[in-house]
Amino acid sequence: MMNFSTLCIYAGEGPDPCTGSVIPPIYQTTTFAFNSSREIEEYMAGERQGYIYSRYGNPTLTVLEDKMSALEGVEAALSLASGNAATIASIFLWAGSGDHVICARDVYGGTYSILTDLAARAGIEATFVNTSDLAEVEGAFRKNTKLVFLESPANPTMRVSDIRAISEIAHAHGAKLNVDNTFATPFNQTPADHGADIVTHSATKFLNGHSDVTGGIIAGRRADIDRCREIMKQTGASLNPIDAWLVVRGLKTLAVRMERHNSNAMTVAEFLHNHPAVERVCYPGQPYDEQQHQTALNQMKGCGGMLGFVVKGGYEGAQRVVDGLKMIMRAVSLGAVETLITQPVATSHSCVPKPEREQAGIVDGLLRLSVGIEDAGDIIADLEGALSTVKG
Ligand SMILES: *Cc1c(COP(=O)(O)O)cnc(C)c1O
Repeated sequence: MMNFSTLCIYAGEGPDPCTGSVIPPIYQTTTFAFNSSREIEEYMAGERQGYIYSRYGNPTLTVLEDKMSALEGVEAALSLASGNAATIASIFLWAGSGDHVICARDVYGGTYSILTDLAARAGIEATFVNTSDLAEVEGAFRKNTKLVFLESPANPTMRVSDIRAISEIAHAHGAKLNVDNTFATPFNQTPADHGADIVTHSATKFLNGHSDVTGGIIAGRRADIDRCREIMKQTGASLNPIDAWLVVRGLKTLAVRMERHNSNAMTVAEFLHNHPAVERVCYPGQPYDEQQHQTALNQMKGCGGMLGFVVKGGYEGAQRVVDGLKMIMRAVSLGAVETLITQPVATSHSCVPKPEREQAGIVDGLLRLSVGIEDAGDIIADLEGALSTVKG
């Protein structure tokens, strides 16, 4: 069995059998020809492997899917047009009209929207809880609860949830556990090893890593992923071959990128923690919250490139820091080689009502930093200049 960084390069691919091409080709086609009517019949009956129509599947997508299932250590994976498409497939895989979902309170804003709008209109009810509090999770179960959906670390508070403990609670109630592994990536954490039934990703972030592709991944047991493919055929949320190829290329450097994201974020967290204009830093890699840090050590290899920090001076203080930056770009999204900053209350979490935001720790002065792979000293110098505009 190859080790992780080797799998990033070789899993799911090999020299092209027709040409010897070292790099898998981009199959830029919508449809696939058969040699005979008999072959079509066999394909339709499920007796023949292969491809028929790119919305259902495509060989370039298969390379990405096989690589991701190897990296997450699961039976199968499916690539989709976005992280949101993966979230929708997972929710509708486990739940339908009359069912109930428990979701972490501090999830991605898009996940919150899906559960409170699209899924709600389909008759799926959701309860939002603090998944770092196991008693609160336990107390939210109903007879019709089918799924627990969480992120760890979560967006944008970096709160860590105990995946093993929550999977055991969910399974005892006959429910499944979905972990959105976008922030950690399989380099730092493989949720299936801790009892998660299914793992979702926004491939737009660290997996691709270069801010130039929108994509999603869902990974788990083969039967569940086959069912997700049926959902994807219906929603039409298929990834296109060129973007799949770019994610495959991005994944080859996942291990080296994540090592640098991990170490840069540790260094930047330490700098911010010691800065007089910063009230609080959220990063599970540092022992700022002993329990959170311990949970992270139990289930993560490293803590990734995302961190949160609360600036003194609330909403205005945070905006002054954001506007004082010279290199770090003011942009949503995350997980790429360049460092990006956002104020969650003004962007990703503006759709979450203020009382719910505050309960989740998403205060006005909170900034979310996606620490890139630049020289750590250059990132710190930029932050230092911007923080000097706020009174400590
Ligand atoms: C960005 C993101 C998503 C949604 O992914 P898209 O590719 O933008 O659809 C879901 N979960 C998390 C944690 C994210 O950061």
